[in-house]
Amino acid sequence: MAEHLGSRGLESWSDEVGNLFGHVPGAHGRRLLVGSHTDTVPAGGRLDGAYGVMAAMEVLTTLHEHGHPAARFLEIVSFWDEEGAQPMSSGGMVGSTALCGSPYLAAIDSYLELHIEQGPRMEQAGYELSVVNGIVGVDRHLIRVVGEPNHAGTTPFPLRRDAGRALVRTAAVFQDLLRSVRDTVVGNIGALSLEPGAPNVVPGAAQMVLEIRAPHEWSLSRCADLVIDCATGFAREEGCTVEHRMLSHKPVVDFDEGMRALLEKVTVDAGRPAGSLYSYAGHDAGVMSAHVPTAMLFVPSSRGVSHSPRESTPEPLLVQGAQVLLEAVVAHVESRFEGDAAGSMA
Ligand SMILES: [Zn+2]
Repeated sequence: MAEHLGSRGLESWSDEVGNLFGHVPGAHGRRLLVGSHTDTVPAGGRLDGAYGVMAAMEVLTTLHEHGHPAARFLEIVSFWDEEGAQPMSSGGMVGSTALCGSPYLAAIDSYLELHIEQGPRMEQAGYELSVVNGIVGVDRHLIRVVGEPNHAGTTPFPLRRDAGRALVRTAAVFQDLLRSVRDTVVGNIGALSLEPGAPNVVPGAAQMVLEIRAPHEWSLSRCADLVIDCATGFAREEGCTVEHRMLSHKPVVDFDEGMRALLEKVTVDAGRPAGSLYSYAGHDAGVMSAHVPTAMLFVPSSRGVSHSPRESTPEPLLVQGAQVLLEAVVAHVESRFEGDAAGSMA
């Protein structure tokens, strides 16, 4: 990125954590930050993150080469370690989180990110572009059922306090419970264990970690209540008790209304099929959004595949996404830095 920017007469720099930035020579004052991340997951695709960084470079280079006044109100970024794919990672968003705690944040007026959807919804709806409303909230819960370990041969069914059976009955209806709340909720039981975990011992305890993602806070808590109530009911029938602990809560992120409206206008002006949706994956934009007005734009992912070498988006849609990003940048800069931009044009 540094060589590319240098060869086009642009300046680049990096901060202490490894975020890479670029701008036109002499840029100063508060600027719109545009970018994404360039790290990826093991055996990942070529678009997740890198597409948004390439598009941001192209936007800055194009505006600079045409002497457009918006160029000097731009800073582009390639964030470090968004994915958190290392085994001991604390969960990603390392670069954007560091930026938000650094003095450099003072120079950032707002943030815009272009990314692939990484899911099938845009393709299914026929959208070529999507304004991202925000990022779903993510809650993780530990549900533990406590019964009584006993001999699996000599203990008749009616006398068992089988914690495993109570937990697995709950797991079996987990998806139905979530669907009953709202079709925009998704969830996962990604870890489940029985204790002591022997074929000839009735499980004395059993636990699972579940994750729920939803675009509204109320549906996150409603789903958790339903699952806990359900587990409690099954546990009672099996002569067991239930313990519950919320492991983490990532609140729903709603992007800046003004910037979303601007993106909506730009995508409508593009005259191509466009819509809006919530992102079910985390992004640096979610971190930035807590500090500066932020918005995101998606292009579709073919067959919804991502975090895989099969990740792809038709080339014309990638080009179109970058073009719409450029138009959004110009429109945003003109509305946000009106006086300054006019001054620099004079
Ligand atoms: Zn990404």
